[in-house]
Amino acid sequence: MDDAHAQSEILLKGIGVSPGIAVGKAQLIAPHAHTAVPRTIARNEVPIEIARFEEALIATHDQIRHIQKQVAEVLGDEHASIFDAHLLVVDDRTFIEDVIRTIKRDMLNVEPVLLSVSNRYADMLSKVEDSYLAERAADIRDVTRRILANLAGEALDQMKKISEPCIVVAHDLSPSDTASIDRNLVKAFVTDLGSATSHTAIMARALEVPAVVGLHNVTAVAHSGDPILIDGGRGIVVVHPSEARLAEYEKRAEDQVQILQELAALRDKPPETRDGYLVPISANIELLDELDSVAARGAKGIGLFRTEFLFLGTETLPDEDAQAAAYAQAAQSQYPSPVVIRTLDLGADKLPASIKAADELNPYLGDRAIRLCLTRPALFKTQLRAILRASVHDNVRMMYPMISCVQELVDANALLKESMGELEAKGIPFNKDLVVGTMIEVPSAALVADLLAPHVRFFSLGTNDLIQYTMAVDRGNENVAHLYKPTHMAIVRLIDHVVKVSHKFGMWTCVCGQMAADPLLVPLLVGLGVDELSVSPSQVPMVKDVIRNLYYSGAIVLAQKALISTSAENVERLCHEMVRQIAPEVLELSE
Ligand code: PEP
Ligand code: MG
Repeated sequence: MDDAHAQSEILLKGIGVSPGIAVGKAQLIAPHAHTAVPRTIARNEVPIEIARFEEALIATHDQIRHIQKQVAEVLGDEHASIFDAHLLVVDDRTFIEDVIRTIKRDMLNVEPVLLSVSNRYADMLSKVEDSYLAERAADIRDVTRRILANLAGEALDQMKKISEPCIVVAHDLSPSDTASIDRNLVKAFVTDLGSATSHTAIMARALEVPAVVGLHNVTAVAHSGDPILIDGGRGIVVVHPSEARLAEYEKRAEDQVQILQELAALRDKPPETRDGYLVPISANIELLDELDSVAARGAKGIGLFRTEFLFLGTETLPDEDAQAAAYAQAAQSQYPSPVVIRTLDLGADKLPASIKAADELNPYLGDRAIRLCLTRPALFKTQLRAILRASVHDNVRMMYPMISCVQELVDANALLKESMGELEAKGIPFNKDLVVGTMIEVPSAALVADLLAPHVRFFSLGTNDLIQYTMAVDRGNENVAHLYKPTHMAIVRLIDHVVKVSHKFGMWTCVCGQMAADPLLVPLLVGLGVDELSVSPSQVPMVKDVIRNLYYSGAIVLAQKALISTSAENVERLCHEMVRQIAPEVLELSE
């Protein structure tokens, strides 16, 4: 037994968001930058912390100058001059020296030191009864927030610098951090924050990297270089795993590989129930790299192309030509199966540096998705023209995200029409009869599905957001993850309602939220009459296995029982009983 294994193991339980077992060395990524958690540093780390601080000061200085220039252009010099006060703070040698002295004296990382020095200065100024000085206190706090954000921004750089196989351990990873992961080196990742439908989790599944999130304190427990084991299916992380634990997991990994090999044999088989009912399975993709895995995993076509990921992790926004090429590549790769391109769902945690949005208290309820696009018609129409150009491949379809009322659909369709006119004027070909649908992921949209139906040709239920907004449970927050319940009666009833409305209008409804990828919930969705399931490629074999072992008649009975149930737990139990009976092998992968 080597030294590393001699330490006693630490077992942590989080939320398993991407299945698979991995063992490797931990690599901590900007572990304390987000929270300003104090960490005692060694003497040789002092210059490193000072250098981090100075680099963050330079970045902050440049950003303030840039903002000042933009404000001067748009609002005039008078408004821009308020940023002079911010520049004074970031260049204040007394303040800077105070932080550096405290790092050396207390032997702490820069974040908590910066925060405490800044609070001290700001408190001092705000106590003086002078409105000018009180404003300077606000400037200090504002600039400090910016410097901390720049320190946190290191995560992306650190990700790009990974050069050895490892398991990434981070406080949180933004979708763009995750998108820049090198799959050949990063065997898995684990985070303090996050939940099953957070965009980071979606990326982990897209990259097929095992992941456990919502661990609360893994960054405090693990150190770079520690041996670490993760079970992404069960949400288990073991730091310093014992020999016995490693042996147990070696056997478990072998069993899982065996099950997955058996499920892979379903690839070319139709997703048909035992009594002959077809439930098409399409794929959710975020990256063009995933195109090959759609058919390879046994899905037909793409039910959700999250196009905003083309905009994340890049310095510049893709222009019309680059977007048209990406959409055409997706369409060609799946032809003749449909490819549903979702228009940009940017905002909240998915905001590229190049798009400026207001600082919002509730960004998930704010300037996001279709709202952001409707207020930035140039950005939106560039995408619409690109999609239209790709629609010469007649398998291209399009849908809008986060529609909450009829007017948004009317406005979006009007911009689509304008974009068609612009292409026509230039003689650029496109499909005039492009099939346009809408996502149903806001409760208000679900409840007025009959009013939305005349404006579109299909619905796609985004259950990730639908659950978040119906239950008022932040989908990315591990503290309320226990309240996030796909089987809540409100959700079961909303899905039932939307499906019934769509069928009344002769339209089809797909589910593209994570609910469709949960093998336990597949019989329920099929029984509720959902016409198609769109899931990340890696989930296709499990979903297909459940469908092929299911009786459609049994699924209908299950859905009827669910609809008259009185609790989420009851519905979950019904679903669990059914899957344990018809496809126990898929449960082996997660229980
Ligand atoms: C959803 O909300 O269910 C959905 C599919 O969209 P996203 O996860 O990209 O928000
Ligand atoms: Mg959504």
